[in-house]
Amino acid sequence: NLNERLERSFKILKGEGKITEINVAETLKDVRRALLDADVNYKVAKTFTDTVKQKALGMNVLTAIKPGELMVKVVHDELAALMGGKATEMKLESTPGHPAVILMAGLNGAGKTTMSGKLALMLKSKQHRKPLLAACDTFRPAAMEQLRVLAEQVAVPCYIEEGATNPVAVAKAAINHARLNGNDIVIIDTAGRQSIDEELMVQIRDIKDAVNPDETLLVIDAMIGQEAVTTAKTFNDRLEIDGVILTKLDGDTRGGAALSVRAVVDKPIKFIGTGEKMEAFDVFHPERMADRILGMGDVVSLVERAQQQFDEEEAKRLEKKIRKNKFDFNDFLSQIQQVKKMGNVKDLAAMIPGVGKAIKDVEIPDDPFKNIEAIIGSMTPKERENPDIINQSRRQRIAKGSGTDIQEVNRLIKQFDQTRKMMKMVTGMGPGKMMAMANA
Ligand code: GDP
Ligand code: MG
Repeated sequence: NLNERLERSFKILKGEGKITEINVAETLKDVRRALLDADVNYKVAKTFTDTVKQKALGMNVLTAIKPGELMVKVVHDELAALMGGKATEMKLESTPGHPAVILMAGLNGAGKTTMSGKLALMLKSKQHRKPLLAACDTFRPAAMEQLRVLAEQVAVPCYIEEGATNPVAVAKAAINHARLNGNDIVIIDTAGRQSIDEELMVQIRDIKDAVNPDETLLVIDAMIGQEAVTTAKTFNDRLEIDGVILTKLDGDTRGGAALSVRAVVDKPIKFIGTGEKMEAFDVFHPERMADRILGMGDVVSLVERAQQQFDEEEAKRLEKKIRKNKFDFNDFLSQIQQVKKMGNVKDLAAMIPGVGKAIKDVEIPDDPFKNIEAIIGSMTPKERENPDIINQSRRQRIAKGSGTDIQEVNRLIKQFDQTRKMMKMVTGMGPGKMMAMANA
């Protein structure tokens, strides 16, 4: 996998005193291959590694910094920079009687309707706006009904015209409805097609010309990988989008599409979708996506979410431990328990370094963490704090005690070790960096 591969390639550099043309070339060959595996477009990956090479060679290596660590930092920072550096907000200006308009564009199944609901919820609950959802996917009656159900779920009004066939007329009527009812934002959900076609493009262009949106957002399914580039380019050429929303970044999707899209159309990625639920939504953070592409797991998001929903002290303690590389099995367990309390375990699991992978092969539909909890539960307090002392005979005892088997115990410990190693790499960037990421 990407993670191991990068680690291996960076290892080549470790212990070497300075960055030279030769060891950079070796490393970057692996980095490029890793990026391709993460669905990054070929040309983008090539340009990227060329830039990194220039930067790395131009650097004066301080004796205190290991070349490997420096390379990780250069790669990470360059990835983040390529994706826009920092989060980009929407520009939604409204005055009484003149609602702001968001136009949702994208292929069929990309997640436009779902994301419309998520945006409405976010605008209502976080920004205290009064959004109106507009059902302009007149192509399929079921699509209008889907939006109506979502609107009900997030308690936001929804404008629908039963039996309507002209989306332009519905969009205009919705804006008028908003004007009369005190809604300050209209989110227009539109129809998509399986692939880009002329009819779709003409239709959405007509809607855009009629309503003059403040934000035209292209919704892209992150799982389509390389194809994301063509989609983004075509829509941007025809529609002049203001930003991109990447959906389905839950699960194993590496997020390479984010890098390619940004590089090809030079429009910011503004939000991400991380699940089917209305709460599975986030502002796009380039730094975190860089971590994700590098395979570090989204530590910062997790810490932040833990902070929001749980004990702030606990989150700080965890952050500090991660920074000091003192992360142990107690923390691992406490993270699992926090995630379980948060609800949609599947969406969140992928964000915990290591855990997502650890549960992948375990088939326990109701409680994917059951065996992991049992294994950690069978460790002594000393073992939990000092995972390094868990030798073969201890592993056998733990397997027996937890009602699992030795392979499962081995797998968990291996996964835990990898997690710690990755954390060490993150902290290798220095505490300032981590703090900046946590505060971003
Ligand atoms: P549209 O055709 O562009 O309007 O797409 P929909 O909003 O109807 O979404 C298509 C399918 O993808 C639905 O089953 C959604 O529940 C699902 N979906 C949307 N966003 C996400 C996401 O972020 N993660 C996951 N796992 N599924 C999503
Ligand atoms: Mg739809």
